[in-house]
Formats: sequence, structure tokens, C-alpha cells
Amino acid sequence: MNYSRFLTAVSAARRPSAIRILTELQQRSPPSLISLAGGAPNPDTFPFQFATIKVKNGDSIVFDEATMKRALQYSASPGIPELLSWMKGLQKSLHNPPTLAYSPENGQMEMCVTTGSQEGLCKVFEMLVNPGDNVLLDAPTYSGTLAALLPLGCNIINVPSDQHGMIPEALGDILSRWDPADAHAPGSSVPRVLYTIPNGGNPTGASMTAQRKQEVYELARKYDFLIIEDDPYYFLQFQKPWAPTFLSMDVDGRIIRTDSFSKILSSGLRIGFVTGPKPLVDRVVLHIQASTMHTSTFTQLMVSQLLQDWGQDGFLRHVDGVVQFYRSQRNAMLSSADRWLKGLAEWHAPAAGMFLWIRLHGIADTKQLIMEKALEKEVLLVPGGVFNIDSSEACPYVRAAFSLSTPQQIDEVRLAHFHTRSCPHARFKVKAHVTLSSVTFFP
Ligand code: PMP
Ligand code: PLP
Repeated sequence: MNYSRFLTAVSAARRPSAIRILTELQQRSPPSLISLAGGAPNPDTFPFQFATIKVKNGDSIVFDEATMKRALQYSASPGIPELLSWMKGLQKSLHNPPTLAYSPENGQMEMCVTTGSQEGLCKVFEMLVNPGDNVLLDAPTYSGTLAALLPLGCNIINVPSDQHGMIPEALGDILSRWDPADAHAPGSSVPRVLYTIPNGGNPTGASMTAQRKQEVYELARKYDFLIIEDDPYYFLQFQKPWAPTFLSMDVDGRIIRTDSFSKILSSGLRIGFVTGPKPLVDRVVLHIQASTMHTSTFTQLMVSQLLQDWGQDGFLRHVDGVVQFYRSQRNAMLSSADRWLKGLAEWHAPAAGMFLWIRLHGIADTKQLIMEKALEKEVLLVPGGVFNIDSSEACPYVRAAFSLSTPQQIDEVRLAHFHTRSCPHARFKVKAHVTLSSVTFFP
């Protein structure tokens, strides 16, 4: 793989900060090292002394004074070493990416810690997308993705999708406009990036089959593009075994995967991971050096200690518990929808994630319905339009999250009252209590 042809001029121009290199050197040196390098402040002057964080299983994470000083200090931009190596072990057990076995020239796999997967995504887009570039994705898609991509001035090509996500035949049709032999020509308009949410899509709840991923991957090989696999709901898959990921199929080193701990450990701690070919992950790290410097050392140490205490088995047991919770919430949402919405709306049962995507019959656009009528009734859903590339386009869908409300609340809310005016014949009761994930504040 020749990665340089994928980089924007801005990304290609990033250079390592000399001081950051010293910080990383210092981290790998014995504690006896006397460092007058770097601009680290003296943590003895910081007000926080030590911490004990109780874990729900009865264990504790203890930051003694020395650990606390480390937690309050600058750390390496790719992430603290013990957390990175734990995560590499996890990625290897879950995905066993073929790229791991490759030589550095062939794009050996690398990882870095990010402040939520959103940071990783935003930096990956800024690394790869130039104004005017053709970018492939299956809309409706996560509004945070659109927020990061649209200002880059690219031309988004919408690949048709259904409840199993992106449709490979439709992608093949779109790509047939181009000759794969032109992919490497200077100024070529052949897409170089495809983005997708492979499990429990936000907002559609769609999950891709292994077969579809394999077919999309083959098209990526044929036209030589990269795939951004944004998979924050990977750990929220309701069926076992979990679907094989794009990363697990990546023989060439063309997958950049973003993982998130937001749905399983904490969304507010802000921690996620980028996994991909080393030359690309290194560029993301250079961008981190120039912006946040690194994800909060406190957050990383806290998460790392928990994961070391748990081990992979303990982590996966915890994830099982989270999955059980969301599975029963999903079931409650589906039975309310069955009870109240049959014939009035349609939906597919999501196999992962926290969203039900509901198409309302007889409603051309749900925006007014939600923004005015639903608010009056203290019900909040997200009107589907915000997930479209052109958010002003009419959209008959709403997104209902089943993450926060109790099954009773889910069954209580009646969209019926405000629906009757826009559609007088429908005896309509959408029950979906509903967290308003207001687009800007709650993704
Ligand atoms: N601006 C200046 C002039 C600095 O010296 C530093 C830190 N050395 C920063 C910004 C970055 O500070 P922060 O750790 O708050 O990101
Ligand atoms: N990608 C998708 C598809 C999401 O739905 C979200 C959050 O809702 C994110 C990324 C951002 O996650 P994080 O909290 O890890 O930044």
C-alpha cells in the first residue's frame, strides 16, 4: 500500500514535536533519569493528592500519591503504554487482523488512544479528505460524522442501504462509473475513502453481515480505497457470535477502525481507540500532538487499572452484562412498537446498539411533528432528517433511543395526541419515550 496518496497536504505536512519526542523518551526511561527537558509542571504543586474509585463489583481502583502525580501529568500522545498494550491484546483476540503479521512496509497494525472515537474520526477525516473529494458512505448516518465531514467540502456519495447496512451491489454500481485503472492517476476522482457504521448503525440500527463486508472489502481492493470502520456499537451486539469485522478481513492494511468505550465504560471519560496501518495512525498521533496532546492521563490510568484488574475475561463478562441490559431494552421497545404502531409505522428489529429507526406512515417529514408537537407533550425523538446529508430534505423517519428510559416509560408516551392533527385518520400511538438526543449535545 502506498499511503502517501491518501494524505491531505495538511496531514502530510505534520512533523513530530521535538518536545513530545522527549516526553515519550522520558516515559520509557528509568525513574532515576534526571530530566530538565520538556515543559512539564511540577505535580507537587497540584491540589489533588490521592483517589480511591469504587468499582460496582466491590473492587477499588487506588491512585496512591505517586500514581496520582502521574495521572495529573502530561503523557505520551499515542496513549499510556500499559493501556495501549492491553488494547492491542484485545484487538488481537477479537479481530486477529492479518495486518499484524505484516512487515512495517506493508502497513503493520498500530493503535492510538483518542478522546472518544469522535476525536479519532474527526482526525481521520482531516487526514484523508480534501475539498472536492468523492467520499462514500451510507446515509442516513451519525450526525457527528456529518459534522466532521461536511465542512471539509467533499462530495458525499450516498450508497444505498437497508436493514443489513450498505448494499454491495449498489456500491458496485456506483463505482462502475470509474475505471479502477484510473485510481492512481494524478487528480483522479475515484473515491479514496468509504465510511460505514457496521453494527447497530446510528440512527438506523442496521448491522452488516460478514458476507456484505467481504464484498465491500473486495470492491475496496479493486478500486484501492480505504475503509473507515466506525464501530462504537460492536460491543452491543445482541447475538453471539459477534460478526467478523472489516479489521479481521484486512489483508492489505486498508481498514482504519475506530473503537469506543463510550457505550460500555463511560461516555463522559472520553476514551476511544484508532486501529489501522501504522503510517496512518502515526499521522493521527501527530495531529493529537498539535491539538489535545493526549487523552486525559487520569482517564487513561483509571481505565487501564480497571482493565488490568479485570483481564480480558472480566472485561468481556462486563460487556455481557451491558448487552443483556440493552437486549431487554430493545425487546421492550419492540413490544411497545408492536402494540401501538402496527400498520401505522414500520421498523426493523436492531441486532445491536441502542436505536430503533421508525418510518411513520402518512408523514412526509417528521421535523415539525417532533420539534413542536412532541415537545408540547414532553416526548422527544430525533427527527430523521438530521442524519441525512442534506438535512433540509423531508424525512418520514424518527430515531428512538432505548438506552435511558424504563420499559414503563417506553410504553407510556403517546405520540398519538400530536400525530392525529397531521394525519387525522390514524389512530396513532407511537410509544417511544425517548431521549432527545439533541443533535449537538447528545450524539
Ligand atoms: N500554550 C502555551 C504557551 C504553553 O506553554 C502550553 C503548554 N506548555 C500550552 C499552550 C498547552 O497547554 P495545555 O496543557 O493546557 O494544553
Ligand atoms: N460514531 C458513532 C456511529 C456514534 O454513534 C457515536 C456516538 O454516539 C460516536 C462515533 C462517538 O462516540 P465517542 O463517544 O466514542 O466519541
